[in-house]
Amino acid sequence: MIDDEIEALIAAETTRQAEGLEMIPSENHTSGEVLKALGSRLTDKYSEGYPGMRYYGGCEFVDKVENLARDRAKSLFGVSHANVQAYSGSPANMAVYYALVDPGDTVMGLALYFGGHMTHGLKVNFSGKWFNSVQYQTGRDGYLDYDAMAALVQETKPKLIFVGATAYPRIFDWAKLRSIADTCDAYLIADISHISGLVIAGAHPSPVGFADVITTTTHKTLRGPRGALILCNGNPSNPLKSVERSRENLPTLIDRAIIPGLQGGPHNHQTAAIAVALREASQPAFKEYGKQIVKNAKKLADVLMNKGYQLVTGGTDNHLLLVDLTSKGITGAEAEKALGEAGITVNKNTVPFDPRKPFDPSGIRLGTPALTTRGLKETEMQQVGEWIDYALQAKGQSAKLAAIRDEVVAFTKDYPLPA
Ligand SMILES: *Cc1c(COP(=O)(O)O)cnc(C)c1O
Repeated sequence: MIDDEIEALIAAETTRQAEGLEMIPSENHTSGEVLKALGSRLTDKYSEGYPGMRYYGGCEFVDKVENLARDRAKSLFGVSHANVQAYSGSPANMAVYYALVDPGDTVMGLALYFGGHMTHGLKVNFSGKWFNSVQYQTGRDGYLDYDAMAALVQETKPKLIFVGATAYPRIFDWAKLRSIADTCDAYLIADISHISGLVIAGAHPSPVGFADVITTTTHKTLRGPRGALILCNGNPSNPLKSVERSRENLPTLIDRAIIPGLQGGPHNHQTAAIAVALREASQPAFKEYGKQIVKNAKKLADVLMNKGYQLVTGGTDNHLLLVDLTSKGITGAEAEKALGEAGITVNKNTVPFDPRKPFDPSGIRLGTPALTTRGLKETEMQQVGEWIDYALQAKGQSAKLAAIRDEVVAFTKDYPLPA
């Protein structure tokens, strides 16, 4: 490599990942095959349009790449249509709004401070500015308050309801959500960005058959490149022609929202890497992986609760834990810093009804997807929980934190990043 500055930084980041414990629940470590596709010549190619219908010549191979990605996504999730072109999760969600509602329409999503995503109607996001966004939340117990949500739907009659979260440790009841959306004939959108790998593994119920549209990033538990999928059922027609808004037309509405609605050329290297990740996710080993993520999270939850930590909802059903540190006399920002010094990467997070500000909230979010990729199991989760506890007790004491870090670095030698 000729650019020695960037080469050094890539090496430093790779070492940081290899020698640390990555516990941000939205992160993961991709395989060498995924990285190879991402670094390929496919990045050079323009191919606006869809396979067989492109505005550029020379698309015979990228057409096949995109078809493979679409077919693998369809069969893995069990839907009849997949769009694989959205550049990432946020643009995928933007495409759903673009396809199904108009500016000024009422839309609904889980509030960010209760674990939702910015694109689900946060006031400073396009979704909160361009639409009349109504936000639902969890109850005091941290569980989604379905009754309050149903009442809010009755009161405000949204045209579209986003369900999905970045910091929610429990399972979504898709049937119940469908029946709530049906009370005002709203489109139900399942944003399974965090949990799509668990859904594939059968470790979280699938929204297929309940949600009208499903969006997911491909780089979280799905363990692929940064990117997104938009999944639905219906009759695909020629995406070059506009169609009426209806459930039957969902595939065409979504495809047309991506292009010409929002994007230009697809990122073919990314599409190829998504196809690779989807094939990996179709192997039996991936099912084991997804189930182990949840086992590890449950084990870590037990270890921390036994040490007196308070978990929002009192535990977890999925890949993440939301720890309320109030009773331990430490803030989320202080915890993030202490753990970082000890070689454990986490992020601070608000807890439901957080009295503190988002820049220094009361909690942290801990996830097991990346550690599970590296081969850690329940036994190792015991050790990870011990380190977390020591590090939080040692906040501000750099010598103690450095000593934990040395242990962490030594430990990671036995759990290399994927080849
Ligand atoms: C991560 C995430 C997104 C956005 O994905 P980006 O790729 O960061 O744009 C959207 N919704 C949910 C629920 C997410 O977790």
